[in-house]
Amino acid sequence: MIIVLKPGISKQQETAVLREIRKRGYRPHVMRGVARTVIGAIGDELTHRSLETLVSAFPRAVESVMPVQKRYTLVSRDAHPAGSTIKVRGRTIGSRQFHVMAGPCSVENEKQLLKTAEAVKAAGATFLRGGAFKPRTSPYDFQGLGEKGLKLLAKARQETGLPVITELLSEAHTEMVAEYTDIIQIGARNAQNFQLLIAAAKTGRPVLLKRGLSMKIEEWLLAGEYVLANENCNLLFCERGIRTFETYTRNTLDLSAIPIIKKESHCPIIVDPSQGAGRADLVSAMCKGAAAMGADGLLIEVHPNPSEAWSDGAQQVSLDVFKRLMEELRPFVQAAGREMANG
Ligand code: PEP
Ligand code: MN
Repeated sequence: MIIVLKPGISKQQETAVLREIRKRGYRPHVMRGVARTVIGAIGDELTHRSLETLVSAFPRAVESVMPVQKRYTLVSRDAHPAGSTIKVRGRTIGSRQFHVMAGPCSVENEKQLLKTAEAVKAAGATFLRGGAFKPRTSPYDFQGLGEKGLKLLAKARQETGLPVITELLSEAHTEMVAEYTDIIQIGARNAQNFQLLIAAAKTGRPVLLKRGLSMKIEEWLLAGEYVLANENCNLLFCERGIRTFETYTRNTLDLSAIPIIKKESHCPIIVDPSQGAGRADLVSAMCKGAAAMGADGLLIEVHPNPSEAWSDGAQQVSLDVFKRLMEELRPFVQAAGREMANG
């Protein structure tokens, strides 16, 4: 920790601060600058009392207390400089292979799901997405088929061979969802539901953690830390847009999160352009941008008839649009030194 003292404080005040730092178990190292004095406190913050309260304990002497180290360690790139890979049913995410996870926002019925699953597979997707438990803004909107939807996803996996990713909405459903899915999705609205993150981590299934609606990247990394700290090293981050003042899009897809997560963390990053803008007409361009910027994969909403979709109709692309998008994506994936994974 670095403790910045206020300018012009008395020797007695400084001595009192130093005494308190020692009392809390740290070794102070005083650095005197021209205008200010800064103290480096050496010691293990996990086993000693926090120094953050020095600001309120010495309001006239201490200006600020700042951590030297990053607050996340397990998700940090330092923990695994080469980058981690995640193996799911013979596929490796985070490798040279670029993976596209595609499927409807919500599982609606067998015909809709199977038709979509077959079409996305034929177009080159390597995972099937689909929500069985839906986090809807209004309690009067379709909430998902629940376990019936999970069973349909399992059936689609059996018929197509595509591994499944679906959202875990509540701790109460942890075991049930883990039984049917290959990757557990934690949605934007639950990105800081730490008990849910712990429960998901403990299933041992890979966890895809969406970025929260208003989540800073540091908060997102710390939420990911919960997964790794609970003995699950298979974590994927998923950028899905954040709330801004912009109204032309539902969310603002933060593409800068890709190189930042790549720099800060060893965990793969997936981009969801569907929630990202909330507009089907923008999905293709954002997929290309994300691929060229080094994302490890995409999570795309696809529906046989978007205008009839039970949720997120405006942002789902049709089967034809998806097929074209996949054909156009390849050079962007290659530009980032990757290749399209094949099933
Ligand atoms: C979704 O993937 O359908 C979804 C609800 O995503 P998010 O949590 O990012 O809003
Ligand atoms: Mn959706």
